Amino acid sequence: MTPESLSARDARCIWHPYTQHGIEAEPLAVRAAAGSELELEDGRRLLDAIASWWTCLHGHGHPKLVAALAHQARTLDHVLFAGATHEPAVQLAERLLALAPAGLTRVFYSDDGSTTVEVALKMAYLAHVHGGAPERTVFLALEEAYHGDTFGAMAVGDPVPFFEPLAPFLFEVQRVPVDAGALDAALAEHAGRVAAVLVEPLVQGAAGMRFHAPAFVRHARAACDAHGAYMIADEVMTGFGRTGTLFACEQAGITPDFLCIAKALTGGTVALAATLTREAVYEAFLSSDRSRFFPHGHTMTANPIGCAVALASLALLEEEDTVARLNAIGQRIHAGLVERLDGERRVRDLRQRGGIVALDLVPPAGEAPGYLATMTPRLRAAAIERGVLLRPLGNVLYALPPACLTDVECDRISTVMAELALLD
Ligand SMILES: *Cc1c(COP(=O)(O)O)cnc(C)c1O
Repeated sequence: MTPESLSARDARCIWHPYTQHGIEAEPLAVRAAAGSELELEDGRRLLDAIASWWTCLHGHGHPKLVAALAHQARTLDHVLFAGATHEPAVQLAERLLALAPAGLTRVFYSDDGSTTVEVALKMAYLAHVHGGAPERTVFLALEEAYHGDTFGAMAVGDPVPFFEPLAPFLFEVQRVPVDAGALDAALAEHAGRVAAVLVEPLVQGAAGMRFHAPAFVRHARAACDAHGAYMIADEVMTGFGRTGTLFACEQAGITPDFLCIAKALTGGTVALAATLTREAVYEAFLSSDRSRFFPHGHTMTANPIGCAVALASLALLEEEDTVARLNAIGQRIHAGLVERLDGERRVRDLRQRGGIVALDLVPPAGEAPGYLATMTPRLRAAAIERGVLLRPLGNVLYALPPACLTDVECDRISTVMAELALLD
């Protein structure tokens, strides 16, 4: 008797994220990963061109990260973080604050991108309450924004295409296009009532790797200052060198009031996230009244193993000049695509920023572009057939690979992306 396949067992007991089980192909059965490659149960190898959902920074199974993880697991696996502390958490906070834009002085740990946004939203509003401005109940967020899947994060995300049916449970958010004038107008309309403005600085990831100029981020900072609103920078995807600098905010030369980081924080190894903020926000909660504390905390907050791996990842980032490497990788993939697709009418736009390269394809006649485009599953399957893991966002094909990619692997990605762009 042959053993039942992993996919068959999976199909009976698992419910996958962002997956329509009624129609989608069975999941890839992944046995192992090393460097830029995933190894499947059937022996096939796939080049991980999307860093396993934008997390894998240096490559899979980097020996230094694995060593840090094993060492920390033996030393201190976990301890509650209310009323206790440990070296990896403190050291990581010191490191993050030294690397982040100047003016951020406090680190609040959580587990993933969504929770780092929840923390920022809650802190921002409560800081206004403690400052005597409970009427600041309005959040401003951008069109096409994505900030995660928990209720607060869904509320500030654009409801289209995912969250519209949940609208009865989402608090109201003023949505503005990525435009300085529109942002000013919305702030003026809600003058004195805005708690915070949220941005994914420079690149709106889930929207389809949409870029905007550093000038917009700079403008948002100035506008927040002028209106007494906080600025929340969601760098869950853009953080740790994805856009050409360690943090995207650096290119705008600004410091947000809240900096949300997650995905690549541990190099893509374990779940860990953090919300960084300013001393004034922290001080707004200081009181002899116990009830005025920040009422938030997750069971695994500041998990020591996660913190130790994040520290090892940050050390590697400097040793291996990861930011420059990602930039060179992005430029090479982009150049390969320009060479192969120049003048091709099926390509609506081709762009690169740091280690992110995106290609907007013209959807088939009669079809609107967007996340639910029918071409998406076809493109995904065609990439896998060619040995590359891509996961197009609707009609947007993109690469966001780990920093260990070789020139040959960069060229393989641009070749496959170009072939996909020209599929019938
Ligand atoms: C992925 C993402 C999130 C959500 O992170 P999770 O870890 O999936 O909860 C939030 N914001 C941005 C910009 C993201 O890319």
